[in-house]
Amino acid sequence: MILQAAALSVLLCLVHSFTIQGPFEKSEEYSGNTIEDDEFSVSTLLEKANVNVGKNLDEPLVMFGDIAVPTGLQNADPCTARGCLWPKATDGNVYVPFRIANAFSQRERSTIIAGLQSFAESTCIRFTPFNRQRDFVDIMSLSGCFSFVGRRGRGQTVSLSRRGCVFRQIIQHELLHALGFNHEQTRSDRDQNVRILLENVMRGTESNFRRIQTRNLGTPYDYNSVMHYGRFAFSRNRRPTIIPIPDENVSIGRATEMSPIDILRVNRLYRCNSTASRPDLKPVQRNHFL
Ligand SMILES: [Zn+2]
Repeated sequence: MILQAAALSVLLCLVHSFTIQGPFEKSEEYSGNTIEDDEFSVSTLLEKANVNVGKNLDEPLVMFGDIAVPTGLQNADPCTARGCLWPKATDGNVYVPFRIANAFSQRERSTIIAGLQSFAESTCIRFTPFNRQRDFVDIMSLSGCFSFVGRRGRGQTVSLSRRGCVFRQIIQHELLHALGFNHEQTRSDRDQNVRILLENVMRGTESNFRRIQTRNLGTPYDYNSVMHYGRFAFSRNRRPTIIPIPDENVSIGRATEMSPIDILRVNRLYRCNSTASRPDLKPVQRNHFL
């Protein structure tokens, strides 16, 4: 009860500070790049919600902030071993079955469903209620916010803890992982766009800043991606860990929903404009992932 009250007050406090510091009410001197202003960035929310991740042995191994990895597999990206796209139906849509655990309240459930449906507004991804399909996303409230990258086969956990993960940007972020996307700041071309300050990174969390040979699908690096961490992600000393270059003052990692480039990437990865289903193209063909 005390814990619940504490969690609620933290949440109210977050909402409150977010409200009074809304982007349209800031004074001209406002830099937008202080640690306090990052209160609602995806990575801040993830860090707060994920403090207890890994303490429950029944849960998947979570690395790289919020990416679940199969136990024993040291290579972070499961997609490198095999294809991980969700299959495309003959009508050109990509149906991703989902199940939502009963642990969520009606209101949380509605927020989650709205987040899932947001994909249908701008992409060919159609999250549809689980109906005994073989592969599906199994949305649960475990001890943080995390997801596997790409389709894993069978029911795959996407954890959206009731304590801190049921927000639109987090829901979209975790489902973008499930669709096959990594964090923006791990992109192969990130060093031309950001500088990583490892000296400010909390010991033991450096792996969050590794670079991956991603397929970038012809899209530009996007500071506003919902997959981009904030400037102070995993900071051990309240100093920045990610600085945009060449202009240090550009704001990063503050998306509150998918950016136009996030949407473009989904459309490119899943070839959303093509309705033709090619029988020779297996849905898990490896060279189409990320
Ligand atoms: Zn993530």
